[in-house]
Parts: sequence; C-alpha cells; structure tokens
Amino acid sequence: MRASQEKNDRMEFLLTLRKRGIGDAAVLRAMEEVPRDYFVPPAQAEAAYQDQALPIACGQTISQPYVVAYMTEHLNVRPHDRVLEIGTGSGYQAAILAKLAREVVTIERYRTLAETARKRFDQLGILNIEVVTGDGFAGAPKLAPFDRIIVTAAAEEIPQALVEQLAEDGVMVLPLGPHGGPQQLVKLTKTGEGLTREDLIAVRFVPLLPGQAQEL
Ligand code: SAH
Repeated sequence: MRASQEKNDRMEFLLTLRKRGIGDAAVLRAMEEVPRDYFVPPAQAEAAYQDQALPIACGQTISQPYVVAYMTEHLNVRPHDRVLEIGTGSGYQAAILAKLAREVVTIERYRTLAETARKRFDQLGILNIEVVTGDGFAGAPKLAPFDRIIVTAAAEEIPQALVEQLAEDGVMVLPLGPHGGPQQLVKLTKTGEGLTREDLIAVRFVPLLPGQAQEL
C-alpha cells in the first residue's frame, strides 16, 4: 500500500472511532499507535484500517476496531492495572491493552495463534504482554488476581473461574450468548457484596470453546 494511502486510511480510522462515540483520549491514542496492519494476514493488509472484523488463521477473527475500542473504553484500564485477556487471536486487542496497563496476560487455545502473536509483540518491542497457550475457561490462577479481565470470544454463561480471579473492585467485560446467535456485551464489577452487571451493546463474536485446541 502507498504510504500516503495508508496515512489517509489511518486518519479515517480514528475519525470513525470518534464519530461512533469513542471519547477516551488514552484509548484513542492507543488505537492510533498500534499498527493494525501488523495483526492481519498479508492478504487483508489493504483492509486493515477499515472498521470491520477480518479473518485470521485457525478460522478465527480479529475483532472490528470499533468493538476493540468500545470494550477497552468500558474496561477503564488504569496505568498500574494487571489485565487478563481470554482469546489472544491476532494479538491486536492485547497490544492495545498493553499501551494502557502495567501488564497483560493473554490466553489462546491455538498454539499457532499464540506463537504468531508473541512474534508480533517482539517485533513491535512490546514487552509487557505474557502469552499463555491454554484454556481460557480456567483463566491463569497462578497469576491472579487481575484488576481487569476481558474475554474476546462468546460464552453462554459467565466463566466462574474468571470471576474468582477478578480482584475486589475489578471489572470484567465479556460477550455472552449462544454460538452464532444474539450476543450481548456485558460489564461486570466485583464488589464486596458480589457482582453488578451492566448490559452494553449487541455483538457477534466467535465462540469460547473448552480446552486447548488439539489441532495447531
Ligand atoms: N482478541 C482477538 C480476537 C480473537 S477471536 C484479537 O484481537 O485478534 C477469539 C479468540 O479466542 C480465537 O483466537 C479463539 O481461538 C480464542 N478462544 C476461544 N475459546 C478459547 C478458550 N477457551 N481459551 C483461550 N482462547 C480461546
């Protein structure tokens, strides 16, 4: 892609996020700084700065930029936070979070995706992300508690292990709903009395599947 075309696309990309209501300056800065074209397959590079989900390896998807920004904004990440992400995929959402948080732990069930994401973080000089290959339903108990948890694949019910690994006053943002059916983005806050739930927008995510993938 010509450099001037890419510059235009990236300006348009930020403008679209603002127009759609993303107002948090730190989130917008992170979206500006992370090059999404690094995180999509070469064949999709031309579309990297369009506001759409795109296919990646292993039949998975990199989420739509608006949804990445929206979820990040509702997660309300603070600079000293430790964040857990379930569903590394391309690594794009983790790279955005890494700009805002002290540390990000991200879990992916496909080894291939985890390894590719790790390489991307190395190339971009991002040092505060730990990629774990495993089953996100179990979280990362040895590294818990987490101030913030984000799930980027849809579960039918709230995974209990993740609730347990959320710190007091912690926030979790996750899509809930049936595979391929209507899903709701939900924000949970852990208080002394339990969880409070706020329903956000309707979304469509790939399913959160149990176990580490047997294929690569
Ligand atoms: N956050 C990603 C979006 C990835 S799509 C990005 O920015 O690109 C969701 C990802 O969740 C897929 O890669 C899928 O393999 C992964 N996934 C699904 N179920 C999982 C589980 N139980 N544990 C870990 N990862 C899971």
